[in-house]
Amino acid sequence: MPHVVFVPLSGMRVREEELLALGMALPGLQPRARAIGQLPALGVLTLAGLNPAHWTCSYHEAAAVDATLVEAIAAERPDLVAVSALTASAEEAYRLSGMLRRVGLRTVLGGLHATACADEAGQFFDAVVVGEGEPVWPAVLADAEAGRLRPLYRAREPFALTNAPTPRFDLLGAKPRPRYTLQTQRGCPLACEFCGASRLLGSFREKPAANLIRELHAIETLSPAPLLELADDNTFAGHGDLTAFLQALASSGARWFTESDWRLGERPELCRAIADAGCVQVLVGLESLVRAPGGMGAKNADWPRILDAIAAIQSAGVAVIGCFIAGCDGESQDSLDRLAEFILASPLADVQITLQTPFPGTPLYRRLRRDGRILPGRDWSFYTLFDVTYQPDLMSVAELEAGFRRLVRAVFAPEPTRRRQALRRDIWHHNPRLRPWASALCSAT
Ligand code: SF4
Repeated sequence: MPHVVFVPLSGMRVREEELLALGMALPGLQPRARAIGQLPALGVLTLAGLNPAHWTCSYHEAAAVDATLVEAIAAERPDLVAVSALTASAEEAYRLSGMLRRVGLRTVLGGLHATACADEAGQFFDAVVVGEGEPVWPAVLADAEAGRLRPLYRAREPFALTNAPTPRFDLLGAKPRPRYTLQTQRGCPLACEFCGASRLLGSFREKPAANLIRELHAIETLSPAPLLELADDNTFAGHGDLTAFLQALASSGARWFTESDWRLGERPELCRAIADAGCVQVLVGLESLVRAPGGMGAKNADWPRILDAIAAIQSAGVAVIGCFIAGCDGESQDSLDRLAEFILASPLADVQITLQTPFPGTPLYRRLRRDGRILPGRDWSFYTLFDVTYQPDLMSVAELEAGFRRLVRAVFAPEPTRRRQALRRDIWHHNPRLRPWASALCSAT
């Protein structure tokens, strides 16, 4: 029987040493990094769901590339090794492919980075999948089995999510995972300049409720009342009817996290429905105080309106994690200090701050590259969201790095972290659906 090994290069990566040290010391940063590291790689589990019956497969999550990983993969004598990587782990993926090819194995890379940099990835892998994997996966396996893998596979049309297979969650093993992932949509109807997720894999589409409920039941067989992270970019941005799925979530006893834009707060019935269905926390992209990045569309509004919407989501019993990007054009040392003050005075129950990062394939990358502002000598391993990769317009690179560290230190210091944790506990105590879990959730987020 032919055999494929799936290798997602998972987990957060940070290079900047001082920030890395801060992350270890600051209580507010660790739980989010831990939560991200716990997420199963839904993309490859979904592809595994499309494998023909005569193919066997296995799943090796890899936080690092080393000889032990290569030996473990080679021991299975696979006909194909399918790797998924984000931009920050692309260099590791290239190294892994080289090590695997040297022991005679064939490799394929897919995902956002492979899509944006197919020519580059093709120098290191036997095959590259550009765009969505599902439409071409049967052909990739058939060609691998016949020994005639092609260098490039590209879907001719967007994948209809009605045909989405149930991801092979069983590959994660019998031991329940702390978190499972489930995707209700692909892409986003908005087009923020810095965002790769919204367009690279095709237009915005929503998955039918029947598929979602089937996936939820598959997860429940491994973990009753699971903790879920919806692998969406902007849940609720479409017009699909989520009522049946929300009811299924409520009956499953699941508690779940997702991402949305702040306009959710202007839909009181939906806020109540998601709170009743066990929604714990919504990550809301608030982006920047200095300048709204291009392409934000209806997400761009005045701050009193946005803060009212956040208050409405939290009053319904769902915590909001406000997500900011530092270093947009117009940012200065002063504006970074003002951002710290704004966050510390805000009603946000949690906060995420990253550096603006021009991921390949985004309009931001094209603009900065055209203007000669992409820093030479900083390869993809710097594209972590915590390392500076471009020349800011009003500061030096060193000033942006120092200002970002100051911001992180202020926002994630022990006292404000404790205050936000108390706020989250309060929000969840007021949601009858989450009250029994309030303390446990505080330590998990
Ligand atoms: S709203 Fe979020 S997902 Fe949509 S384009 Fe903007 S950053 Fe991307």
